[in-house]
Amino acid sequence: MPVTPVALAHADDLADFIAASPSSHHAASEVARRLEDAGFVPLDETQPWPSQPGGRFVVVRDGAAIAWVVPTDAAATTPVQVFGAHTDSPGFKLKPQPTTGTKGWLQAAVEIYGGPLLNSWLDRELRLAGRLALADGRVVLADTGPLLRLPQLAIHLDRGANSGLELDKQLQTQPVWGLGDPSSADILAELAASADVDAADIRGYDVVVADSARGAVFGKDDAFFAAGRLDDLASVHAGVVALASLDPSTGTQAAGGPIAVLAAFDHEELGSGSRSGAAGPFLEDVLERMYASLGADPSQRRQAYASSWCLSSDVGHSVHPNYVAKHDPVVQPVLGSGPILKINANQRYATDAVGSSAWSSWCERAGIASQEFVSNNTVACGSTIGPITATRLGLRTVDVGIPILSMHSARELAGVADLHDLTRVAEAFFRG
Ligand code: ZN
Repeated sequence: MPVTPVALAHADDLADFIAASPSSHHAASEVARRLEDAGFVPLDETQPWPSQPGGRFVVVRDGAAIAWVVPTDAAATTPVQVFGAHTDSPGFKLKPQPTTGTKGWLQAAVEIYGGPLLNSWLDRELRLAGRLALADGRVVLADTGPLLRLPQLAIHLDRGANSGLELDKQLQTQPVWGLGDPSSADILAELAASADVDAADIRGYDVVVADSARGAVFGKDDAFFAAGRLDDLASVHAGVVALASLDPSTGTQAAGGPIAVLAAFDHEELGSGSRSGAAGPFLEDVLERMYASLGADPSQRRQAYASSWCLSSDVGHSVHPNYVAKHDPVVQPVLGSGPILKINANQRYATDAVGSSAWSSWCERAGIASQEFVSNNTVACGSTIGPITATRLGLRTVDVGIPILSMHSARELAGVADLHDLTRVAEAFFRG
């Protein structure tokens, strides 16, 4: 069945969002920019926060962003419905003393970030992007655009390449970015120029390597969407679109509904343990201050948590037609048949019976189909932010996402229809 024009428009908007979000810091800033354009008020963690009923707010901490919409009649025990996702993606991060090279080539010294499929990064035009901390205390975003490439060795020089390519994680992962003598070049100057600052003023940086190609729709009936960083910008984007559709002042968020929260964390690919990761205090800090602004005492806040939900959205595996044996023999989600409910007996996903039932009702309300995911017993299952959030705050949590192929590739593959359906179910979830 052909995908709808609205789903195609959604995929095009996602391509814009991903292009604007080469690093987690860019993604958090893009979340804030889009929501501020939609009328959300940016809050600063170093300042007091206003009384909040009827308000829409967004706060950025490093590479993470949390945004929320408070109904006009919200009180001390009004529950939250948190849509969780992550802003970071596996790849490479710029090392200290990053300008290297040999034999007339300029190269960038990079460290591996998370668990990328290394071979997928070969022979692509790559960009450097992230944040620069300057001598005057400012922190600015920088993005060079296409600058680097990891060239694969020619088949003539590696006759065994097609029977299993193995890359040395140090020697063979250092991209080229120019020609010349490394002692008279400076890759930080490229970043500085892109941010319109002086390279001599850079005192620190968090900079990653990102694919520079734009996302694209293709396949029979426009079924497919491929892009870098679908894990997990597809979820962050779905959450932003859904949250922006709520506005207590226009009545698009019903009175008596929950407080809708989008939590886009950093560092999921490393296990979430940081001040901006799901295992850190960011969400708890925001919720404490939000409930304080509603006059809640700690006991009332806990009362609210007890009837709250977290919908943790991250990509999952579609069945791969060339590797069917890697998947559960019966439960085999495919692209285009709806978002997936992720289930794991060992709580690598937080979904349980009550959560499954709640998910069904949100999908029903959104008018979308959904699928299930469970691992083959011989293939270890990944995990995500859901179990971490549930463990930290005690919120009832459901792990969901869209099915994809090529997870952790420099360019992943999703279904156009699923991307839009995820936004629809996020909206139904936010409305309670
Ligand atoms: Zn992920």
